[in-house]
Order: sequence, then structure tokens, then C-alpha cells
Amino acid sequence: MPPRRSAFVAATAAVAGARGRASSSSLAGASRARSSTTPTYSSRPFGALRQPTSLLGGGLRVGTNRGTPPAGPGVTTMAATETTAKPLPSRSEVPVEDTWAVESIFPSAQAFDAELAALTDLSVGGKWPTLTSCRGTLATAGPAGVVALLDEYFAISRRIQVLYTYGHLQHDTDTADDVKKAAYGRAVSVYYGFAEATSWVDSELVALPDAQAATLTASPEVAAAGYGFHLEKIFRDRAHTLSAEGEALIAMAGKSLGAATKAFGALNNADLTFEPIRDGKGNRHEVTLGNYIGHMRSRDRRRREAAFKSLYGAYGAHENTLAELLGGVVERNVFMARARKYDSVLESALAPNGIPKSVYTSLLETVREALPRTMHKYARLRRRLLHAQSPAVRTFHVHYWDLYAPLIPDVDIQFSYDAARAAVVDSVAPLGSDYQETVRQGLYERRWVDRYENLNKRSGAYSSGCHDTQPFVLMNYQEDLDGIKTLAHELGHSAHSALSRAAQPVQYSDYSIFIAEVASTFNEALLQKTLRATVTTDAERMMLVNAQLDDIRGTFFRQAQLADFELAINQAAEAKTPLTPGFLKSTYARIAADYIGPDVVADKEIELEWSRIPHFHAKLYVYQYATSLAASAQLADRVLAGKLAPDDYLAVLRGGGSVDPVVLLRQAGVDLETTAPFEAVCNQFESLVDELDALTAHMQPPPPRERSS
Ligand SMILES: [Zn+2]
Repeated sequence: MPPRRSAFVAATAAVAGARGRASSSSLAGASRARSSTTPTYSSRPFGALRQPTSLLGGGLRVGTNRGTPPAGPGVTTMAATETTAKPLPSRSEVPVEDTWAVESIFPSAQAFDAELAALTDLSVGGKWPTLTSCRGTLATAGPAGVVALLDEYFAISRRIQVLYTYGHLQHDTDTADDVKKAAYGRAVSVYYGFAEATSWVDSELVALPDAQAATLTASPEVAAAGYGFHLEKIFRDRAHTLSAEGEALIAMAGKSLGAATKAFGALNNADLTFEPIRDGKGNRHEVTLGNYIGHMRSRDRRRREAAFKSLYGAYGAHENTLAELLGGVVERNVFMARARKYDSVLESALAPNGIPKSVYTSLLETVREALPRTMHKYARLRRRLLHAQSPAVRTFHVHYWDLYAPLIPDVDIQFSYDAARAAVVDSVAPLGSDYQETVRQGLYERRWVDRYENLNKRSGAYSSGCHDTQPFVLMNYQEDLDGIKTLAHELGHSAHSALSRAAQPVQYSDYSIFIAEVASTFNEALLQKTLRATVTTDAERMMLVNAQLDDIRGTFFRQAQLADFELAINQAAEAKTPLTPGFLKSTYARIAADYIGPDVVADKEIELEWSRIPHFHAKLYVYQYATSLAASAQLADRVLAGKLAPDDYLAVLRGGGSVDPVVLLRQAGVDLETTAPFEAVCNQFESLVDELDALTAHMQPPPPRERSS
């Protein structure tokens, strides 16, 4: 329900934007983040403006981002890529074959302008009369009238999505080009203007009496036009919609309810500064949110420790303010859940997408149960391998600042773009020849991908597009393991979009963010299998195993840990426990220790980690990274073991947004209300730890020295 939620979510969006500028490593822990080039939050344009139940779905744009900012991320242990300081080409110097086929949308800027003019004409001063003439009539329009309205609505919205897609793609490839920037700005304003001018549609539908809503959903006209589930999702909110007066009140309160989030953004991204540090050789380094993870990945232990202490020193100096800000956000969650008559914050976060609460609790319970054989075992291995690198130290204690330190020697393994795309095409063979052909055409003939970095191109990687365009992948391809994995990941998103757009009408071709990471991580698993089959040396094998462990740590265990804390503090607030700095710190420290286990020193500073995680400002969000990975792990296991027909998996992708994501997954045998998908990830992680343990058996700490008496 856009009108009633927009003001509220917009505040979160503001932080998301700010976050993108300042903290490079993204929302939840960018496991493949090429640290400083990780994209900003880009799940879906205007996703913040319109919730999934909205009419104007928006082209899905899925970045490689995950979760938390610096230090949260799963991390690859490869050394930072050397900068060869080659000057970047300007956009006009990039050969056409390296660019995406944006001309498949509009053959020229003039064609874009013409469509913009046509839509502007149709909008008649932003009023969209063909739609607004129906305002106030939905209660009496009957099924045929509602269908006609929705048809008209989608006919316009899909054109606007095309316009928006072209505008943002062009802008992202050269963000300093004023002409492109202006075109993008105009597309955005049409998009917002339309969303605003038509927000009454959902509101009017929600306001229909129960009996009328039920008749409408079940009517043959609605069924024939394919709007049944669309309406069902809108009507699902009815029990949580207030009177017109109540809704107006909440809308008015929107801005002030977002104040804590905005204040956090300002503090985190602008006002906080960190003490510079010195590394083991005495060299001075700045510490910023953007370079923090680079310090954490350094082989220089003194540098890691100094950066860790510098960062937490700054947050610690503001712990009372930061506790008030997080407390404010949690109080907002509690207020909104109660105002909307949900039984809890958890329910209010999950119900709109039809996710049962047991999905969340099953994730946390299964992970906790498995911690000794997964994360704790991993921490022990980390302790042995780091000790082996420091033979002079008698007893090696792993600290929190050691958790992202490189574990194994660097291996120089390179993939040209051509080698990478060939490997990606090969890797998807288990999904059948049609799927493979889709991917092949995207990577070869159809130019889905904008391959390399150029001057002023947006950083990071994402997959984008809309119902009436082909998929598009933005890359800043680097010839390393990270590069090829990112390509496989984004192609997974794009192929998912291609399949769902071909199979679904416009109202269902956009899939839920809850399920988006299934297709991408599934394809990463396939790539991993292909790469494992081709490497020949133990060093390369070690690198692949280690990188996969880092991915799972960042996407699964780390997110589960954050989700655990988030639920704990929201439930505490519901039980009227004050969220004091002391409470937040002790709760966080306890959960962090539970997850990492007894082999890591409980550094005091870690109790403040909650204070710097922007994602806690988006209500119970991060768990979705973990649930997606779990679903994809179980699906990949079963497809590769011949227990699930590839086509049954592809049916999940083709399903798009036509039913709730949990239902789609269940049709392919994945039940997120049970422990099985989460156990699949834990089992995989455990066997990778065992494998790395075996591969590194020769890397041993020094034998304990004799004690002289
Ligand atoms: Zn992704």
C-alpha cells in the first residue's frame, strides 16, 4: 500500500543511498565484493517506494550486495588485486562488443525522447486521465471494470519501466554525462509521478468490503485476466489496514518515524571519523568505512588490530547516541506492528510476503544447533593456519581482527572474460540445453553484459531490466576468481528474469527479493563444480575451497547471526525491556560468542558491532540472504544428485511472482519451514572445512617448545 508506507520507507531509502557512498562493502556483507567497488544497494529501483504488493513492480535490479557493511562481509582471502594503473577508457572509447545492447530497447536517444514525449502527452500534466477517471468507482465497477482498470494500469506502467530501464542503464555507464543524467532524471520523474498519481488504486481496492473482495478475487473475469493472485496480495493487507483517518495519521507521522534512521545515516556516513593507524612497518593509513575491510584482509596483523581498534574506538565514543538511534528504530517497528494489528514485529515483517514465522525461527534454530560442527570447527582451523604463519608465537590466540586475514598463500589464477563466459556456459549444462542456450545467447549474441570498467561507470555488479526488455548485467570485470564468480552470479539473476518474463504476464514477471538470490547462488554452485573439475594443483583447490567457505560464512552464518540479534532486540522491546547500551552490548557479545565459539578471544570491542550495521534499520531483512542460500543449496544438491529434475527447479524460476515464494519452493521440494534446507548448507560448510583441513595438513604450527626448568 504505497501511500501509507512510502514516507516511512523513504527514510530507510535515504540511508541506503548514503550508505552506498560511504561504505563500500554494502548492506549485508558482500562476499564477492571487490571491496571498494561493491555497488550500492540496488535490489530494485523504487522498491523502497513501493512494496511488493504494489502495482508498479519495477524492473528488478539485483546487485551482488549482501548485508552488512565493512567487517561483516564474507571475505575472500585473496590479496588485493594489484593496481596496474592503466588509464580507464572513456565511455565513447569502449568497443561495442564489450557493451550491453542498450539499443535493443531504444535504437537511439531520439527514440527514447519520442517515447518520453508520448508518455508525457498521455499523462496530461501528470494526471493520467485514462486511469484517474476511474477514481472513486472501484466499489461499483464490478470485476470487468477492475480488470479494465488493471489492464490500462499495466499497459502504461510497463512502458514507464522500459523508459526507466533505458535511462538508468545509460546513466550507469557514464555517470558524468549530463545528457544521460538529464534523461535518467526525466525517466525517474515520470516513474515517481505515475506511482504517486495511481496510489489510490491499491487504497481503493483495500477499502472494499470483505464479501466484495472475495467475489472479485473469485470472479471468472479476474481469473481469465490473470489478476487473481495480484488482488489476493493486495487484499491480504486488509486486516492490517486502518480506517482512512488512521492511515492518514500514520502517513503524517512517516517523516518523524524515520528520524532515527536518518540521524544514524548522518552520523555513520558523515560525522564519524576514525583515528589513522600505523601498520607493522610503521606506515600510516587512514581508516574509513570504505577501506576498513581492506585492513581486515591484510596479512599485517598489527595493521588489522589497529584498524579494528580505531573503528570501534569511534563507535564506542558515541555508544549512547547509537543505542538511542537503534532503540528508536526498534520502537518504530513495535509501534508499526501494533498500529497495524500484527501480533509481533516478526509477523509484520514476514506476513506481507506470505512468509511463515517458522521460516525465520527454523533458520536460527538449525544454525545454532550446527554451530559446533561448522563455525566453531572453522575457527579452530583458522587458528591452526594462522599460527602456522606465525611460528615465533608460542600460543596463538585468534582475535576478531584475525577473522578475515588470509589463510592460505596467494595463488595467481586468472580468467579472461572469454574464458569466464565459456566456463559459465559450460557450468549450467546440468540445467538442460534450453537453459544453457539462453545463457549462451545472453553472453554471446544478445550482449546482456556490459563487461569492463570505464571512466565514470558505476562500480560493482548488478542484473537489471524489465518485462519488455532483455536482461542486462553491469560488470566491472576483473580477471580473477572473484570476477568469474560475479559473472556466474549475475547471469543467474538474468536468466531467472528471462525465464520468468517469458512465462509470466507483466504483473507476475517480477520475482520477490526473498527468492532472488536462489538463482544466482545456484549458478555459483554450478560454476564451483566446473572449476573444481578443472583445477590441477592443491594450491588452486585450496583457494577454491577457501573462497567458498568465505562465501557461506558471509551469506549464511553471518546473516543468521545478525538476524538472531535483530530478533532478540525486537522481542526485548516488545517485552518492554529498555534497549540500553549495556543491554545491546551484552546481547550482541553473547550472540557473537555463540556463533564464533571458544577458539576466538572475546575482544571487548565486538560488543559494539550492532552500532554500525545499517541493515538493522530495515526491519528484519538480512535473514533472506541466509534463507535464499539454503534453498539454493538444497535445490543444487538434489539436482546434481539426480533427485530433482532440472525442469522442476526451472519451474521455480519460471514461476516469477505468480505465487508466494515459499509456495514456489515447496513445489520443488524445498520446505523452508523445516530444518532440511538449512542443514544442507551446514553440511556443505562442514565438509568444506574438513576438506581445507586435509588440504592444509602440511601447514602446522610449531611444536610446543620444551619448558626449561
Ligand atoms: Zn545477487
